[in-house]
Amino acid sequence: MEKSLQWIEDFRDDPRHSGLFLDFDGTISEIAPAPAGARLHHLAAELLPRLAAEYPMCILSGRRAADVASLVGLPRIHYVGVHGMEWMEDEPRVDSEVLPHLPALEQARSELCSALPALPGVTLEDKMLTVSLHYRESPAMEEDALRLAESTALRLGLQTRRGRKTVELRPPVDIDKGSVLMRLARGWKLRRALYAGDDLTDVDGFRGLRRLMREGGFEGVAIAVLSTETPVELEAVADLTVEGPSGLLELLSRL
Ligand SMILES: [Mg+2]
Repeated sequence: MEKSLQWIEDFRDDPRHSGLFLDFDGTISEIAPAPAGARLHHLAAELLPRLAAEYPMCILSGRRAADVASLVGLPRIHYVGVHGMEWMEDEPRVDSEVLPHLPALEQARSELCSALPALPGVTLEDKMLTVSLHYRESPAMEEDALRLAESTALRLGLQTRRGRKTVELRPPVDIDKGSVLMRLARGWKLRRALYAGDDLTDVDGFRGLRRLMREGGFEGVAIAVLSTETPVELEAVADLTVEGPSGLLELLSRL
């Protein structure tokens, strides 16, 4: 589904009430073979300082808030990490709903570490508030990694979420990119916002836009950033699609 580009004019006419919500990995960075290798796209490094000076801007990632803040490294941006469970103020703040689940996460971390030697090539990413298994470098292990993640989560009262070549164990809380977007959009008194992302967790961000639109007086633009791994669920509910981070940044440069 393609949307007319009138929204660009609306954003430009009223930047203070027009929010920009961006995922990081695969959206304003290129996907790297390992999470530690990701870098801010060079076009984003050129463009975001201007946009962040004109528009309220939030970068929402599955990474730790401090990690994404340091990878982007630009001021005037609100950095949200672990799909909304924490954000940067002077230092990272963890949502109070998450705290009671930290012991179960610690147990999961230790159990997954013990099980990893049986899954060659699968790596564990420990974000304290979630634990993820990555199988990008070992696709044959996908099924084993998913089975391990699901059985561990079930036993410890956690939830699993799948992403691009990764599965995450997380606390069973009602916090996601969409709930964060809604809270910020209200707090910032936004009249419109765009959300751009490339992955399943970004569907939550799109959903946040839709909920605000149903409440009325709000315009939302959901942008799917395409790659060879785009989940059909994301593309199906987007207003607009762009080809990779460079396609997105070219579009944003018109703001
Ligand atoms: Mg992403």
